[in-house]
Amino acid sequence: VANERESLYLVNEFASTYFQNTLHKTDQGKAIGLSYFKERGFTTETIKTFGLGYSLDQWQAFTDEALKKGYQLEFLEKTGLTIVKDDKRFDRFKGRVMFPIHSMSGRVLGFGGRILGADKKTAKYLNSPESEVYHKSKILYGLFHAKQAIAKEDNCYLVEGYTDVIQFYQSGIKNVVSSSGTALTPEQIRLINRLTKNITVLFDGDAAGVRAAVRGIDLILEQGMNVKVCTFPNGADPDSFAKQNTPEELASYLVDHSKDFIQFKASLLVEDAKKDPIKKADTIREIVNSISKIPDPIKREIYVKECANIMDISETVLFSTLAQIGKKET
Ligand code: ATP
Ligand code: MN
Ligand code: MN
Ligand code: MN
Repeated sequence: VANERESLYLVNEFASTYFQNTLHKTDQGKAIGLSYFKERGFTTETIKTFGLGYSLDQWQAFTDEALKKGYQLEFLEKTGLTIVKDDKRFDRFKGRVMFPIHSMSGRVLGFGGRILGADKKTAKYLNSPESEVYHKSKILYGLFHAKQAIAKEDNCYLVEGYTDVIQFYQSGIKNVVSSSGTALTPEQIRLINRLTKNITVLFDGDAAGVRAAVRGIDLILEQGMNVKVCTFPNGADPDSFAKQNTPEELASYLVDHSKDFIQFKASLLVEDAKKDPIKKADTIREIVNSISKIPDPIKREIYVKECANIMDISETVLFSTLAQIGKKET
C-alpha cells in the first residue's frame, strides 16, 4: 500500500532527525558518539552530509519519543526501529553510532548502527531488518551522495563498508558506494550500470575481502561492464588508507594501482603458480571462466589474447578452454 510505505518513510525520517539531535545535542551523544566520529577523522560537515547520529544507551528512549510525537507503534515495528515483545517495547539500536541509509532520491530507508569499542560478543554492525521500504539487496549505501560524481567521472568505486564510503567522500573521491556487508547482487550492479559502464572494486586487504571481490567481478562482467580492481597495502581498508594519506596521495594511489581484472587475477596467479603448477591450471580455468561471462565476443577475444600473453600460455589452449566452458553452460 502506498500509504503504508509513506508511513515507514516518515518514521525513518523522524528517527534520522532524532538520532542526529541525540548526537549533537545530548551529553551522552557528544561525549561518546561525536567524539567517536571525530576520532575516526570525520569533520562536522561530513557528519551532517551523511546524517550520522547516535542512539542512547537506554531501553526505549527512541520509542517513547516517537510515540509521544504521535508515530504509530505499527509503523515503528515495521521499520524495525522498535522491537515489540509481549507488551514490552525496546529500541533496536542502543548505544550505537548511526548511519542512515538513503534511497537514490535521498529518503531514509533504514539504518546501520555500529557498536563503540571492541565488544567481541555483540555484532559490530546492526542493520534495520528488511521492510517494505528497505530491501538490502537492491540498495547501495552512498548512492544518493555519489550519483552525480559517478556519471561525471564515468566510474564508480565499490567498497565494503559505510566508513569507507564516508572517508573517501571526505577525501574528495565522491563516486563511491558500498554494498555494506551483503554479497554484491545483480540488482545493485544494475543501479550502477545506469550511470556508468566502469566499476573499480576496492576491498579490504584481508582474505574475506579478496574472496568477496572475486565473486563480485563475474557478476559485473555478466552485465557487460568493465571491471578494475585496486588493493591496499598491509591490511588497510579504503577508510584507513584514506585517513592516513592526503587527498592527493589517495587520488594518485587509485590511479596508479587500479588494474584491469585480468591483470589482477593474473598477478594472483603468478604468486600461486610459483608454488604449485596444479594451482596454475586451476587459476587459468578461473580466469577463462570470468572471461566467458563477458557478453561481447570481441572483448572476449581481446581478453583471451591478453591473458595468453600475461601468463605465457598458448591462445589456442585458452580458446578451447573458453569453448568448453561455453558448452557446459548451454
Ligand atoms: P569499521 O571500520 O567501522 O570497523 P568496516 O566497514 O571496516 O567497519 P568490515 O568488518 O570491513 O567493517 O565490514 C564491512 C561492512 O560489512 C560493514 O561496513 C558493515 O556494513 C558490514 N558488517 C560488518 N560486520 C557486520 C556484522 N556483524 N553484521 C552485519 N553487517 C556487518
Ligand atoms: Mn573487512
Ligand atoms: Mn573494512
Ligand atoms: Mn574499517
